[in-house]
Amino acid sequence: MIIMKFGGSSVANAKNINKVIDIVLESQKESDGLVVVVSALGGVTDELIKIANLAAAHDEKYKRDFQKLCERHNQVKSELVKKENKEINKKYEELSRVLGEVFEFGELSSLFSDSIMSFGEQLSAYIISEAIKSRGVSCGFIDSRTLIKTDDNFGEADVDIETSYKLISNYFKNKKTLSVMGGFIASTRDGTTTTLGRGGSDYTASLVGAALHASVVEIWTDVDGLMTADPRKVESAHTIPQISYEEAEKMALSGAKVIHPKTMKPARLKNIPIYIKNTFNPKGNGTKIR
Ligand code: ADP
Ligand code: ASP
Ligand code: MG
Repeated sequence: MIIMKFGGSSVANAKNINKVIDIVLESQKESDGLVVVVSALGGVTDELIKIANLAAAHDEKYKRDFQKLCERHNQVKSELVKKENKEINKKYEELSRVLGEVFEFGELSSLFSDSIMSFGEQLSAYIISEAIKSRGVSCGFIDSRTLIKTDDNFGEADVDIETSYKLISNYFKNKKTLSVMGGFIASTRDGTTTTLGRGGSDYTASLVGAALHASVVEIWTDVDGLMTADPRKVESAHTIPQISYEEAEKMALSGAKVIHPKTMKPARLKNIPIYIKNTFNPKGNGTKIR
């Protein structure tokens, strides 16, 4: 079993999503099961927060930005999936309802904020699973909130590891088809939506990997792995070919945002290697964390 997680820039538009699907289908040939974890389309989580804040401030402009967000998803979907699909409209209606409530209340609680942010991954995961199907490959869509259970510390909920691992391993028992799920999002025992903290999709991938005793967890992003410094800030930064879980965690905690600091623990406890790879340079070696 392989877990592959693709971040926001890897799934920012239809062209990139097609690249992602090529990478996934290539890996699928050599695997006995594959779970794809995706982030929201690049920039969408920030945009959702902005829209939610406008609504809370009684600013009608939130409706215009909400509309733009729907149009962006419609555009990506229509480039990838030809058949009409009502599911996505249901998601928009649901989000519109939640935003309407925030507008009414004039306040954005962390509970509502999580609910609103979760639509980024709900939409991306759904669109990407449909895009894979439209290539003639069978693919399941999973609502991650049914498998990852947390407490109600909205914004950065704590995962109930035992319950989540049971749900994940039961779900995947005897499942061989490719599946796509959103990272970052989860729910409490009573089903209220939560999130795992910004950048938390990496953590989702590691949790799923650990629950399924995967052979590898791959974090696909927009740089050539974990580097000596942020390559956007330091020109001489270079890729670290191999690093320990402990060192990688330290780097993540001190700002290497290419991997969420919580990602290391679940994989480490099951001795599963994590690879960080570049979607835009898939042949590159990337970084191995072990
Ligand atoms: P994704 O959307 O794929 O999760 P992120 O934006 O969360 O990607 O993380 C990737 C970014 O992390 C890179 O584009 C890079 O600018 C930044 N980054 C910061 N520090 C490092 C580092 N030490 N090594 C690699 N990338 C880093
Ligand atoms: N979409 C979420 C964020 O932007 C989670 C993630 O990308 O990992 O924080
Ligand atoms: Mg990230």
